[in-house]
Amino acid sequence: MTAYAMSIDVDRCLGCQACIVACATENEVADDQYRLRLVTTVAGGFPDLSTEFRMEQCFHCADAPCLDVCPTGATYKTSDGIVTVDRAKCIGCKACMAACPYGMRFMSEDGWVDKCTFCEHRVSTGRVPACVETCPTSARAFGDLDDPLSDVRLALDAAGAPLVLNPSARTRPRVLYLNTGPDTELEPPEEAF
Ligand code: SF4
Ligand code: SF4
Ligand code: SF4
Repeated sequence: MTAYAMSIDVDRCLGCQACIVACATENEVADDQYRLRLVTTVAGGFPDLSTEFRMEQCFHCADAPCLDVCPTGATYKTSDGIVTVDRAKCIGCKACMAACPYGMRFMSEDGWVDKCTFCEHRVSTGRVPACVETCPTSARAFGDLDDPLSDVRLALDAAGAPLVLNPSARTRPRVLYLNTGPDTELEPPEEAF
């Protein structure tokens, strides 16, 4: 079975935000809204400062709490592990926004809840997500965790153990961070990849 995931190599991320622009354009996100957010961490002391850039988006959790609370079935998971939203079924109750431990959902201007969809419309036709295609440093890799030759599997195998945000939430995120610095807030996942 296909199990889609994305890796983000933090050491390669420039913080250029090209992925944010590509995502907004590809998915027609409103001008003042974003499916991605940039987290900047400054470590060390003057003059030995270091800055780390890390992008966050919906983690397409394997055990996603946003799924269980949706009263209409608008939030659902595809057979290949993508957590997405059926706009036509969403009543804008915000239960999923409250359930997401990472704050990755937001209310669209049209009254339905929006978030990263792993660009399902592209992936279903054999393309990679817009943010992956656009990244100038190839910090992002996407693909099937169960395919030993997929881009994401190759990135994981090359970089070693990934880290995730807040594993104590027990959601089993499927956006995995690679090559993080020593001062990262990220932690090892509960499972092996
Ligand atoms: Fe749901 Fe939040 Fe996990 Fe995305 S990050 S699947 S919105 S719980
Ligand atoms: Fe489901 Fe929409 Fe309510 Fe979220 S806001 S729980 S997607 S109906
Ligand atoms: Fe945006 Fe698609 Fe990347 Fe998700 S996978 S952040 S929807 S460009």
